[in-house]
This record gives sequence, structure tokens and C-alpha cells, in this order.
Amino acid sequence: GNNECSKYYLCLEGEVYEFKCSVSLLFDINRQICDFKSNVFSCDVRMQVTTAKPLLSTDNPICPPGELACGDGVCLPRHLFCDGHVDCDDESDEGWCDAHHDPNAAKLCDPRNCSLPDCFCSRDGTLVPGNLEPKQVPQMITITFDDAVNNENWELYERLFMKDRKNPNGCPLHATFYVSHEFTNYAYVQKLWNLGHEIAVHSITHRGPESYWSHNATIEDWFDEFVGQANIINRFAGGKMEDLWGVRVPYLRVGWNRQMIMMREFGFVYDSSMVAPFSDPPLWPYTLDYRIPHTCIGTGQRCPSRSFPGIWELVLNQLKAGEYTCAMLDQCPPFHDEDQVFELLMHNFHRHYNSNRAPYGLFFHTIWFKYKKNQRAFERFLDAMAKLPDVFIVNNQEVISWMREPTPASQINTFEPWKCGKQVPMEDKACNLEEVCKLRSPAVRGDRWLHTCFECPQVYPWIKNEFGIDLK
Ligand SMILES: [Zn+2]
Repeated sequence: GNNECSKYYLCLEGEVYEFKCSVSLLFDINRQICDFKSNVFSCDVRMQVTTAKPLLSTDNPICPPGELACGDGVCLPRHLFCDGHVDCDDESDEGWCDAHHDPNAAKLCDPRNCSLPDCFCSRDGTLVPGNLEPKQVPQMITITFDDAVNNENWELYERLFMKDRKNPNGCPLHATFYVSHEFTNYAYVQKLWNLGHEIAVHSITHRGPESYWSHNATIEDWFDEFVGQANIINRFAGGKMEDLWGVRVPYLRVGWNRQMIMMREFGFVYDSSMVAPFSDPPLWPYTLDYRIPHTCIGTGQRCPSRSFPGIWELVLNQLKAGEYTCAMLDQCPPFHDEDQVFELLMHNFHRHYNSNRAPYGLFFHTIWFKYKKNQRAFERFLDAMAKLPDVFIVNNQEVISWMREPTPASQINTFEPWKCGKQVPMEDKACNLEEVCKLRSPAVRGDRWLHTCFECPQVYPWIKNEFGIDLK
């Protein structure tokens, strides 16, 4: 029956997981996605269970080849160790799972077996891609904002990006927005999209506690939160699924291998949640084919230990702020005056520009701009950057496109992925007058407003009900 058709199974890392599609959707076995009933024709087909990966041999003398011992001496297949599920009676198979202990951990970077466009690594993470001289590299600056897009911050975005500021190739500045669901205005999201900004995914609920994301969230939770938010953006902001490349976890709490398994299965292109220890020169983004080239920092943080070929990590380099280092501007110690903020932005810019030209990331919650001295200093910084012929303010997709095909600054005007002026098709354009939907939210036990150029849903969308269908 239809009920059964909403259930499906995924075989990941040799384990079978049961999933349920969101309300009103059924699982289409042929296409391997959840979709509306009218689009699903494979209800009676049963899914083939794929075989597990071949097991690797071990040099542990307690167990036969291909097996490892639990803390109590029981032998289990090697792949069950650090797969996110407890298999040993004493849970020891899941107890030691960072990059140095996971018996199935990704190997150290092997440059001979890692080449662009799909693989990029270096032992210390600071190598310039494409063997370019740093002076040939266009200095990329990425500006990202986290959380809801709405009236609280819309004017700021207009001011920063919609004026006459341009990159040296004549194209507008582009930012990346990691959008969480609650309080987001999806008509605004659609406008940002139309302007060439990147929309990326920051979960539906943005729930706490922080440790939930690194420790408690199951693979299914990761799907519900991130694929769910991708569905919401697609439905209510009109954005295309294939344009949603990026993920940032709330509170920058990386979700270990589980997060990456979700990303791989859905087809996300990159994560940008990992903070590197302060580094001079700074780190370039890398793919997760090999072991991450820095320690995993943060209390209780859990970086992925396994290999996830082709998934990019847009690692967060820290800023130097006097005696301190900080990843997000709003976590830096407070500044005395505008000049001090400007100097911080310039000093860190030069650390990139005068060394290996790794992308210079500036990561914000918009609360930082509530202090007018910060906003003034930041605009001064943007104006200073606009005077430099080889500095480009681009979104993270544009960074990855460049890294896949490293192109000297001298040839950047003909670099296809950075060209602008493509017309937004009529059907993708944001409306002038959006729907303003007042919706009951069973999840937050109150009402919420949702702005969209599309039809209002029946209730406020939430996890497991991202299209907002009334279940009563
Ligand atoms: Zn956030």
C-alpha cells in the first residue's frame, strides 16, 4: 500500500537503514528519491539490497583476516568499526573514531592519485592548486552569512551588494547565504538567487544543543534537516536542486561521517563547517578523498574520519585579531573603533594576498553589522578591494569552479564560470508582490509568517513535513 511505499532502505557502509519519506511523498525506487504520488510508478517493486564493500585485511593477531576485536575480544568485521552504529557489546567499535583511530580512516594525501578537477589535497593544506605562482592567482574573497534571510538583514544585503560595487571583470560581487528555515522570507531568497548569490543549506530547525549535531543526529536526521531544507528552498524560493551545493552545520558542529554520508547520497558538493587551527600561510579548500590536513579543533568536535571522494571542504581559516584568533567575525573580541576593524580586515587580507592566496573567507552573522562602526569599516574594506585588479569577491560555488580549473588572473575575463550577464529565465524570476502566509506551526506551537512567490502551504513547513501539508 501507499504507506509502505513511503518507506525505503538505504545501504550505507554495509548497513541497512530504514527511512520514511516526508508526508505526502512516496519513494520512487527507480529514481531513488521521494516524490509526489502522481510521479511515482514503482510502488510494487522491491529494492535490491546491494552487497557490502569488500573487507580489508588486518594485522591484528586476535582475529582472522578482515576482522577486528572489540574491547571484550569478540571479533567483528572491520567495516563495522566506526560506521556510526554500535555493534560490539561494549560499544568499543564506536568509541575511537577520529582520523587517527578509525581502522577504515582516509589515508594521508597521495598527490599522485589525486588530481583536479575532482580531487585536491596537500599534506599541510597550503599548496596552491594548478601549480600556479601565487602572483598569478586571482585573490578570491568569500563573504558568507548564516541563518534566516528576512527584514532584519535585507537592507544590509542591499547596501553591501546591490550598489555599484563590481569585480575587476565587471561582474557584481557575490556572497553565499547559509539559510536556515525559521523566520526566512523565501521571496528574498529568490531575489538573492536571481542576483547571482549562492544559496546554501543551514538546516531546517537550527536546533540545539550544539552537541546534537556532532553526536546525536542520526543519518536520517541529517537527511531530514538538510535535504528537507533543500526541498523547502526549492519549493518556496524556486531555486533549483542542482544549484544547492553547500552545507554549513549550525554552530559549526561538524557531523562526523554521518553528515558526509548524507551529503554524498544527496549530491551536495561541499561542506563549510570545519575550522582549521590558525595557520600562516592559510589553507586552501580540499577534497575529502584523503585525511584532512589539519587537526580537528573545538570541544567535542567530530570531523569525518573516512574518505568521501570528490566532496569539497571549504575550510574556515581563522582571522588574527590582535592576540586572538577567531573563525567568524562576530566571535572576534569586540573592537574599539572603526579603524581597528578596518585594520583587522586589511591585515588578514594581506596574510592571504602576500602568501599563497588561499581564498580569504569572511564569515558573518548579521548581528555583527548592528554596530555601525563595523558596517562602516566593512564598506571601506570593500571599496579598498575594488581598487585591486586581481581581487574578486565571489561565492563558494565560484571558488570551487575556479579550483577545478585553476585559471591565471590574466585570463580571468574569459573564465566561463565567472561570467555574468546571463538572463534569469522569466519563470525563475522573483515576483514583485509575494504571498504573505500566516501559518499555524505545530512544531513551534504558534504562528509563523512565510513569504513566498509560490502558493502558501497549509501549515508552517518543518522537518518531516517540508511542504507544510495539514495532517488533520
Ligand atoms: Zn546558524
